[in-house]
Amino acid sequence: MELTAEVVVAGAGPAGLMLANELALAGVDVRVLERMHERTGLSKALNLQPRTAEILDLRGLLTRAEQRSFATVPEGHFAAIPVSYEGWNTRHPYQLGIPQAQIEQLLEERLAEQGVKVSRGDELTTFTQDADGVTITTPTTRIRAAYLVGCDGGRSTVRKTLNLPFEGIEGQGHGVAADVLFKSPPPGAPTEWRSMGNMVTSQSPGKFIGVIPLHQKNLYRLTFGDRLTRPQNLRAEVTRQEVEAAVQERFGKEAEIAEIRWASRFSDDSRLAASYKVGRVLLAGDAAHTHFPAGGQGLNLGVQDAMNLGWKLAATLKNHAHPGLLDTYEQERRKVAEEVLQNIAAQNALIPTTPNQLALRSLFRALTQLPEVQHHLSGLVSGLNIKYPTHETHPAAGTRLPDFNLKQARASTLFHKGKFVLLTTTPTPPPHPEVVVAEAPELPWPDLTRVLVRPDGYVASTSGSTEGWLT
Ligand SMILES: Cc1cc2nc3c(=O)[nH]c(=O)nc-3n(C[C@H](O)[C@H](O)[C@H](O)COP(=O)(O)OP(=O)(O)OC[C@H]3O[C@@H](n4cnc5c(N)ncnc54)[C@H](O)[C@@H]3O)c2cc1C
Repeated sequence: MELTAEVVVAGAGPAGLMLANELALAGVDVRVLERMHERTGLSKALNLQPRTAEILDLRGLLTRAEQRSFATVPEGHFAAIPVSYEGWNTRHPYQLGIPQAQIEQLLEERLAEQGVKVSRGDELTTFTQDADGVTITTPTTRIRAAYLVGCDGGRSTVRKTLNLPFEGIEGQGHGVAADVLFKSPPPGAPTEWRSMGNMVTSQSPGKFIGVIPLHQKNLYRLTFGDRLTRPQNLRAEVTRQEVEAAVQERFGKEAEIAEIRWASRFSDDSRLAASYKVGRVLLAGDAAHTHFPAGGQGLNLGVQDAMNLGWKLAATLKNHAHPGLLDTYEQERRKVAEEVLQNIAAQNALIPTTPNQLALRSLFRALTQLPEVQHHLSGLVSGLNIKYPTHETHPAAGTRLPDFNLKQARASTLFHKGKFVLLTTTPTPPPHPEVVVAEAPELPWPDLTRVLVRPDGYVASTSGSTEGWLT
């Protein structure tokens, strides 16, 4: 069977589903291939960071996430040291506790509402590309598309088929994530997720163990491991003895396990694809970057990749993108991933393996009490600190638009259709069909009278000009 599509997205994880939603919103004919017949229901990630909450809000999706969330945590953590989100100009200075499976489900539901059904049990096996498009092969189908986006996770077939180097920091350690049902709450464990204080506590050198209470009584996410050792086979099944040993070390012998719902291993390697775009094939999410899950950033990074790429790819396909717009996806998002990999490396180094490192961690912890340090670290893990490169000199250029009140609505609601928004203090006609104009008595930057904001909520131009963005 031979099919056609404008874009094929390989992988229906959080990145692929977010991207497909963005493309469908812009009227792009998108096809999503997913290897698995059914969603597993297992959740690696458990959180939405503030910036991800903001971007879901830009699309009217945050309420759905809130309805499915089981916790609101007013802080993040950096190397298991809680960092407050206070002081950031955001309506969402918290992590929303929501299992990854729920995030995927709500994105897939929204996609279905937009008329796109994920093609399940449909694995991309290979592809070829030429100047005009990409031919994608699955066991049952061939699809001809203008673009292919690999959102197919850390072991990405798309990335491997492109022969792209995937290099970074080779770790020595490993971790285990397990959802454990206890017979009664483990001694000293919190019963609700309200803080990151219990997330990871280092015990013997190089070891860590974190505990998060989940949505069901006595159900906890345990994350434990060792920076210094790694089993030969990271895919080997996690044994009950391993989990019991970690539980006993953390809570003592009284903590009794009723059931281990799910357990899996992960490495502390960090890797970044050498490029995010080769011809007509792009990468997003874990296919482009993988790392140790310190600070709860991976899913968030992938969803934000998708938000950055969606409108650029749509504008390119609809012929209103400025030449080179699509290339800014890699320029902007690869840099953000590089910075995340850096902060993960620093967090790993702060899990002490020697007395000297223990002293360094203790000093670092004391420094985090300084408000400027809290702000800096929470900016890193929350995604709120992102500023994309721009030629403009005004400090607003390239930063996120904070959600502020207009006469009738919040600014975020103007972005539900995924268009550019021109915010202006004086009546102005739309400079381009892709731009929505909204009047505001005052902008968040009082010295500005016009500001053009990109569909992903970042300031494109502080003069309101569409030059360099739209044609
Ligand atoms: C233990 C652990 C805890 C974590 N905790 C957090 C956290 O708290 N916060 C956070 O932000 N992140 C966390 N992460 C990271 C987060 O889970 C990932 O970053 C996220 O799943 C990446 O999403 P993705 O869509 O890029 O890839 P994936 O979720 O891996 O999705 C890829 C999809 O592609 C499909 N696929 C693969 N190959 C093909 C193919 N050839 N054809 C078609 N389909 C294919 C797969 O079946 C899968 O559904 C954690 C990770 C781990 C391991």
